[in-house]
Amino acid sequence: MSAKNFDILIQGGGPVGLACAAWCLQKFPEASIALLDRNPVDDADLAAADSRGIALSHGSKLLLDTIDAWPTECADIYRVHVSQAGRFGRALMTREELKQDALGHIIRYRDIHLTLRKALRAIQANSPHFVWRHIDTNTDIADIEAKCVVHAEGGLFKKQDWVESGRDYEQSALVGLVEVENAAPHQAWERFTSEGPLAVLPSHYGPNILNLVWCGTPSSSQTRLALSDADFLKSLQAEFGSRIGQFLKIQDRRLYELGLNYRKEITRVNEVWIGNAAQALHPVAGQGLNLGLRDAYLLAEKLSSLFSKPEDHKTAAAIESTLQDYAQSRKADRSATIGLTDFMARIFTSNLLPLVIGRGLALSALQWLPPVKTALARQMMFGRR
Ligand SMILES: Cc1cc2nc3c(=O)[nH]c(=O)nc-3n(C[C@H](O)[C@H](O)[C@H](O)COP(=O)(O)OP(=O)(O)OC[C@H]3O[C@@H](n4cnc5c(N)ncnc54)[C@H](O)[C@@H]3O)c2cc1C
Repeated sequence: MSAKNFDILIQGGGPVGLACAAWCLQKFPEASIALLDRNPVDDADLAAADSRGIALSHGSKLLLDTIDAWPTECADIYRVHVSQAGRFGRALMTREELKQDALGHIIRYRDIHLTLRKALRAIQANSPHFVWRHIDTNTDIADIEAKCVVHAEGGLFKKQDWVESGRDYEQSALVGLVEVENAAPHQAWERFTSEGPLAVLPSHYGPNILNLVWCGTPSSSQTRLALSDADFLKSLQAEFGSRIGQFLKIQDRRLYELGLNYRKEITRVNEVWIGNAAQALHPVAGQGLNLGLRDAYLLAEKLSSLFSKPEDHKTAAAIESTLQDYAQSRKADRSATIGLTDFMARIFTSNLLPLVIGRGLALSALQWLPPVKTALARQMMFGRR
């Protein structure tokens, strides 16, 4: 089989790989790119897949808007209420005080995925040297060669085929959709329990159907997964309290193991790792995909600028130096986001008294020191620039 040569090979057709391909082609439609995608060709085969609610920041919305990839089914967050179960300290963040249209948006993973596929197909129509190949694990891809390889294979904690730096929080997230009696529209709740954060987030189904992300030890999470609906709702009510009335219904319960796995080096010669292929984070601060989209955007900027130059500029040395430049530009945002997420995942689950008091004080400081609140919110909405 004769090899087909591309400038760029993107491995992984999840949200980050798709977004990276779309931004590269939007900036340079003549780009020679192959995208390898393990997902089925037909959108209908993905429509029943991962319905987990993902919090996307306003910064991610601005980025996705540039390629017309913002899903229509989305719930906006106007207020976030943060508290800890059974302890002092709480904070309320509102869009008014942070002068934003919304503090974030909740969208199902599959809707982000499908909207990005649609956006990339539209861009593909004007991209003569773009090949989107759907593969299964056994497909021979030996006929594809590329000057630069972008790894966007993603993956969840403990499901990735590499382990580097990080931490096992010995927690699982139980996610699902809950129906409640009386929720205020556009409000998100994050409650820190002794086992981990419990988040109740808006959904596009209406104010009383909410996305649940309940983090706990792997064994209690397994037990909760196996409970009858009635017993599950009773135990959720006991942990969350009565702020939004009775929990009435639960559906689509799923478990995810949680941890931090990240690469210290995100480039090697002509290869680069982005999104979850570079770092898998705890969802406590809802940062994984937001960070991955920023990876994809910046990398697309650097690659399209290099590969739109005449052929004799695309040397191995130029590619390696472009990737190093990319890694350098991502350093501050990556380490701030990984560090903040790791800190929150650890501090908010410890039962050591000084830490319990410390986080109560931290929440009070957030409430009473607006500059601290604004700085934290900005980091979470736009990353470190
Ligand atoms: C419970 C939970 C809640 C979360 N909540 C949030 C949140 O609120 N906000 C947020 O920003 N993030 C959140 N995240 C993180 C978010 O899901 C990930 O950061 C995001 O999915 C990463 O996207 P990705 O494209 O890098 O990887 P993935 O979503 O894993 O996609 C990778 C794709 O590549 C494909 N693939 C794998 N190997 C290959 C290969 N060799 N060749 C071709 N294709 C391949 C896979 O089939 C997959 O489709 C959460 C995660 C969890 C577990």
